[in-house]
Amino acid sequence: MKKEMQVAALENGTAIDHIPPAHLFKVASLLGLDKMDNTITIGNNFHSSKMGFKGVIKIADKFFREDEINRIALIAPNIVLNIIRDYEVSEKKTVTLPDSLTGVIKCNNSKCITNNEPMPTRFDVINKETGTVRCHYCERKINKEDIIIQ
Ligand SMILES: [Zn+2]
Repeated sequence: MKKEMQVAALENGTAIDHIPPAHLFKVASLLGLDKMDNTITIGNNFHSSKMGFKGVIKIADKFFREDEINRIALIAPNIVLNIIRDYEVSEKKTVTLPDSLTGVIKCNNSKCITNNEPMPTRFDVINKETGTVRCHYCERKINKEDIIIQ
């Protein structure tokens, strides 16, 4: 019930729940929160019955597009987005791994053009179940456990 109260404090906007604490600030950065003028509340290490501890982010008057939120699917696959309208949860959204990720993953091939030119990386997700991705430029395949988020 306490969680519902925290979520209800937002009049309109998005409350992101169940963020792994270790990835909270990475999630904030991937969502571009550092460049927003919206009112943002960030809380970390809340007790969670599901995952032990969790982070929560609330953004007033912001409703994300699918491609914006799917950027975080790799580091926070079990995240829940509560869409708040008039103080009530009007919709709950989960994230899904998109077909490709731009500017999210660092290529682990030091000779790759993306490590030598000022340009965003681009990876195609070649297996959504295992989370395996392939660099669009050098075709290096990277398994989920070896992925480095930029
Ligand atoms: Zn590459």
